Amino acid sequence: MFHELFNRKFGVETIMVDMTDLDAVKQVITPGTRLVHIKTPDNPTNGVTDIEAIAKIAHENGALLSVDNTFASPFNQKPLELGADFVVEALTKFINGHGDAQGGAIISNDLETMDRIRYEAQVNVGSVISPFNAWQIFRGSVTFPLRMQRINESSQKIAEWLEQRKNVTFVSYPGLKSNPGHELAKRQMKNGYGGVISFGVDTDDKTVERFCAALKVVTFAVSLGHDESLIFPQPSYDERINLYPEKFRKGFIRFSVGLEEPKDIIADLDQALNAIGL
Ligand SMILES: *Cc1c(COP(=O)(O)O)cnc(C)c1O
Repeated sequence: MFHELFNRKFGVETIMVDMTDLDAVKQVITPGTRLVHIKTPDNPTNGVTDIEAIAKIAHENGALLSVDNTFASPFNQKPLELGADFVVEALTKFINGHGDAQGGAIISNDLETMDRIRYEAQVNVGSVISPFNAWQIFRGSVTFPLRMQRINESSQKIAEWLEQRKNVTFVSYPGLKSNPGHELAKRQMKNGYGGVISFGVDTDDKTVERFCAALKVVTFAVSLGHDESLIFPQPSYDERINLYPEKFRKGFIRFSVGLEEPKDIIADLDQALNAIGL
């Protein structure tokens, strides 16, 4: 979208940079930079970006900051309080929480700009949610804090279990002390570390597929933040994997923790790893 639609059609230039590296961000920002957009924790490797520090860099250079808060969810992280100008939430994920409706939200304290966004992007372009989806998301959101609390707790347990499981090559979750962003996550994620765990298994793409197929409690599907636990591998032939740090490029799996009993989830992951001989 950034390179094709925004660049070729609208002449907006985008520079991609590792946002966990503040010096790298400072180096690419120019007086022409209008918007800095970050995603923390990031999808899918769970890198943690310092919202407050990036807000400062953006504002010192006359740019605005928007934060994709989908992985953390507003239960755990409130970017507006850390200096962000806009927050983007995929309502499709934890906020609806039942995997049956799609929607998105932009949140800001700047009501004048929100009015412009509403008119220019929503009324003119037509990105208007259907009443039925809006109702489903509204209804799902009633239990959002309770679900999120459960998902935070289960995810921490599962991430810790995975970390000591043999043949698991890495586990990336902001709640783990081993995550390079853990101390930062403790500061900016106040209620927990979310429901997505990335991990690696020491095998080839075909065997990873067999692992996913062997799961009985966990569902093999894209998306995340549903009531059911969802698993999705990123095969090494998918060239987007080259955007990830080196250690994530083999046997990569994104796991979204659902509302099932954590003991059942762990037992299921274990039996499926056993089933592929790991
Ligand atoms: C899924 C997702 C989106 C987009 O949400 P949709 O509602 O599915 O379009 C945006 N950001 C992140 C981090 C996501 O995981």
